[in-house]
Amino acid sequence: APVPALVESSPVSLQFELRANPNPRTEAEREAVLADPGFGLSFTDHMAVATWTAADGWHDSAVVPYGPFSLDPATAVLHYAQEIFEGLKAYQHADGSVHLFRPDQNAARMARSAERLALPVLSTEDFLASIDALVAADRAWVPSAPAGGAGAPVQNEQSLYLRPFMFASEAFLGVRPAQRVTYCVIASPAGAYFARGVHPVSIWVSTTYTRAAPGGMGAAKTGGNYAASLVAQQEAAAHGCDQVMFADAAEHAFVEELGGMNVYLVTTDGELITPELNGSILEGVTRDSILTLATEFGLTPVERRVGLQELIEGVDSGWVAELFACGTAAVVTPIGVLKDASGTHTVGGGQTGETTAALRKNLLDVQYGRAEDRHGWLRRV
Ligand code: PMP
Repeated sequence: APVPALVESSPVSLQFELRANPNPRTEAEREAVLADPGFGLSFTDHMAVATWTAADGWHDSAVVPYGPFSLDPATAVLHYAQEIFEGLKAYQHADGSVHLFRPDQNAARMARSAERLALPVLSTEDFLASIDALVAADRAWVPSAPAGGAGAPVQNEQSLYLRPFMFASEAFLGVRPAQRVTYCVIASPAGAYFARGVHPVSIWVSTTYTRAAPGGMGAAKTGGNYAASLVAQQEAAAHGCDQVMFADAAEHAFVEELGGMNVYLVTTDGELITPELNGSILEGVTRDSILTLATEFGLTPVERRVGLQELIEGVDSGWVAELFACGTAAVVTPIGVLKDASGTHTVGGGQTGETTAALRKNLLDVQYGRAEDRHGWLRRV
């Protein structure tokens, strides 16, 4: 049977005009948040919004005061989870300028997620316009550059986390793509992920639960994948681990990714190996950036299937010299320990490896304007 046509993006360019919040937080309130933002706890004074209807396409776009939605109990997303989201950050450089890291990649991924969830595609241009407008409106909420400048021993690594999302906002209980969709971007100041220095994390390798299956939604950034990961995260915690590594759903024999990060192996052969994209792994922007950086570090980037057994044996034999996870939130996170039914497997003596540390530093240096942006990854707001 022919596949129904995908919903195309609106040909008009959306304008996100500012309707300023009449009651913004005071400077003292904002400074109190910025002094210790944590993650995902506090939000800025505004949000960007737009509405899509089957009849009119995208319209009603603006930056408006941050505040709750009023939802009919029959709103489709609450029942059938037709929802997608993105995650990216705005970084303030020492000269006060604010930059996004490869936001076009988030726009492209959101478009791919939209197609998988039968949601309307928002064009890259409109996506970027919404982000630019919100960051400009809430510029004062972007944490400032590290005190002490480029040479400071401790970088504060604070940022403004941006969360674009889109959901089925039609009040209708029929199971079909919604005829009304809401797009929104909210922003949240984020503190350093490793506030007390980088420490290797421990990972539980789950063969009980999987997060995504062939033909499923794993390559889309949709809430259901994260709902599927929660019980596995509880299983990891019960085994004393920080996070879960998921295996493929068909055979439980190949490495996929963590609940919110991709995975890399650094081998004694000088290879930087990451599981190949197979439709059930989320294509991380950080993962892609590291593939590009590999050769600059004298490493051979390799995308291929990685067996769980191969990984565990490689860790035990030392062939896997370093193992790390990567994503927007924590950049590059060393993995010190893998645990599975067979026991505990320590990676590289449980310490942060040299390559892991160097890649982490290089990415952060580009993001915070301390290193040359050789690949044109930054977008100045
Ligand atoms: N995998 C999953 C399941 C994720 O949620 C994320 C975070 N978006 C990643 C990988 C890493 O992606 P990125 O580097 O774009 O943050």
